[in-house]
Amino acid sequence: MKALRYYGRRDMRLQDVPVPVPADDEARLRISYASICQTDVERWWHGPTMARWKTEPKTVGHETSGRVEAVGSSVRELSVGDRVMVNNIRPCGVCHWCVLGSQSSCANVNSAGFALDGGLAEYMVWPESHLIKLPDNIPDVQTPLIEPTSVAVHATRRTGVKVGDTVAVIGCGTVGMLTMQVLRTAGARVIAGDLRAQSLDLALKLGADAAINTGDEDALEKLMNMTDGVGADIVVETAGAVVTPRIAINWTRPGGTTVLVGIHADAANFDFNEIVGTERTVIGSVAASPGDMEKGIQLIADGKILLEELVSAVIPLERVMEDGFERMLRPEKDVFRIMVTSDYRPD
Ligand SMILES: [Zn+2]
Ligand SMILES: [Zn+2]
Repeated sequence: MKALRYYGRRDMRLQDVPVPVPADDEARLRISYASICQTDVERWWHGPTMARWKTEPKTVGHETSGRVEAVGSSVRELSVGDRVMVNNIRPCGVCHWCVLGSQSSCANVNSAGFALDGGLAEYMVWPESHLIKLPDNIPDVQTPLIEPTSVAVHATRRTGVKVGDTVAVIGCGTVGMLTMQVLRTAGARVIAGDLRAQSLDLALKLGADAAINTGDEDALEKLMNMTDGVGADIVVETAGAVVTPRIAINWTRPGGTTVLVGIHADAANFDFNEIVGTERTVIGSVAASPGDMEKGIQLIADGKILLEELVSAVIPLERVMEDGFERMLRPEKDVFRIMVTSDYRPD
């Protein structure tokens, strides 16, 4: 079968590899779709920026779903033909952090597409314990977006948001758009921030209450006008640009909380008195914990999170580099998620 393998910085190869055989507790999936995440693009172009992304050659793709095609001998709940989402994060369950309930910090975490073979392939194997049956009303082509939705659910939980809080989300990419929608379900008033007018328009369409262009000279003033001169109770930063954490912290009211979600390829200088003098809380949020993906699926199935606008293109696996990764890399990047499939049928 074909699979996109990660070898290192600027070295990914679409190769022929054997079809994987499921272990006793695993199922083999025929991949429906896998999407390309900005994290995948950055790992390809810049090399691994987090220790856990340094791996032996493995198949890329952590946002993926499929249909069960074969099961191991101890699989009980799944049958051939089931539509399932890959719960990509596999914490060890026994380390200090897992025992404390903070599985996203697990010291021995494994993830599809990084240390374990992922979904930019025709097939993959995955344990039954980390496959989630999909409700019928989520179309196949949208299912990879369940993974970034789990990241948005996790980030929203990390914010500690309360009903009526004003929350600004800096960065209207896929994770930003999903985080805004999850925050709305938690009763927050949401302000979208981005440099691109087009993205702000879509944020408003998807439910943001207001939008601010972060490139405007009076962006901070606008935020202050919207918040009675106080600032946002919470700011979530999902852009991962050099300047955006500083904007996020500046927009947070004294005593409020900034949650950093974007992954940073470049280090930024920062005046830490911005935190000391205002008693802001600045925290990180990465990936998802057990339960976050199930919650995301429920919100999508209930129609509370809209995914259709975030599917920007569908491409065949054979063209994953040219039409996928290379397009995502362009500076005028005009896409949210590109869906990749080996069962490509042009309309
Ligand atoms: Zn991702
Ligand atoms: Zn662990």
